[in-house]
Amino acid sequence: MSNGLKVETYGTRGSIAVAGSAYLEFGGNTTCLRIHSDCIPAGEALILDMGTGFYQCSRNLVNDGIFTITILLTHGHTDHTEGIKMAPHVYIPKSLIRLYGVKEHGCGPRELLRDIMKEPHFPVHSARVQHRFEFYPIEHIGTEVFLQHPKAGRTLLPVYKLEELRAEGRQIPIGKKRVDLSECLEISMYKTRHPEYTISYRITEHPTGKVFVFLTDHENTEGFPKDLLGHVSNADMLIADAQYSEERYLNMTSGFGHGTPQYCAELFLRANASKLGLTHHDPLACDADIHARLAEAQAYVGKHGMTQQEAEQRIFACRDYGVYEV
Ligand SMILES: [Zn+2]
Ligand SMILES: [Zn+2]
Repeated sequence: MSNGLKVETYGTRGSIAVAGSAYLEFGGNTTCLRIHSDCIPAGEALILDMGTGFYQCSRNLVNDGIFTITILLTHGHTDHTEGIKMAPHVYIPKSLIRLYGVKEHGCGPRELLRDIMKEPHFPVHSARVQHRFEFYPIEHIGTEVFLQHPKAGRTLLPVYKLEELRAEGRQIPIGKKRVDLSECLEISMYKTRHPEYTISYRITEHPTGKVFVFLTDHENTEGFPKDLLGHVSNADMLIADAQYSEERYLNMTSGFGHGTPQYCAELFLRANASKLGLTHHDPLACDADIHARLAEAQAYVGKHGMTQQEAEQRIFACRDYGVYEV
């Protein structure tokens, strides 16, 4: 695949995986996305979150002969992490899994894996497999930026350092090489409003100028602060948490840390994004309910001047095993 930035969705459900005849269209796996870009080295994969969708993602990568994976975690909640336990890569000797994630309360990616893979929760202790992992804690969301180059590899740089280099027109140090930012995937971060420290990733593919923003596990508790609008501004595609209908949110689920179709639609309009995908579907939502959430978002932009036809072209509901061109 590739030739331009694409997102492949392996899991789009929130909270807990579901299965059954009511979920056939959108699927029931929890969050996992694969990012396709020519900035990612051949033979490697870049993944956002490892919910239950990661199990199938990992199987597909093995079939494609890809054994080196970089995973950027939004946060440590089980619907974003539990797919790692059964992922084939964990048990294949030649695999390398680079795990990036928040370090908070003394718990970073290494401790997260330790807590997931231990008795009595799971028979395989992380100590037996962690030599196939590299752990990269992110301590201060928003102060670091992740850069991926197709040949030089990847790095986490302080934002101020990148700004200095950019202002002076200098090359970026990645490993032992110096590279042009124009050849990189640049991934900046924003702290969402959620019960746990959670990262939203903004991915800029510099060679094409395409921008993708993944904003999951985010609640409308502070409206549309300037830093959020800046983070999402002019994205070619925003995929955002629309777990609850506005009605269910107002009656029951406010404070749970998740969004609504109307909030996502308003953010999409204010930030001047080109496309909006709804995700983190409620486990209580059957396929028809997700169509209703989608209609809710499309009706909202209709009230703000967008034709129904345009709304249907620009706003969609993500499904498992979807491929979306950014
Ligand atoms: Zn979640
Ligand atoms: Zn969460």
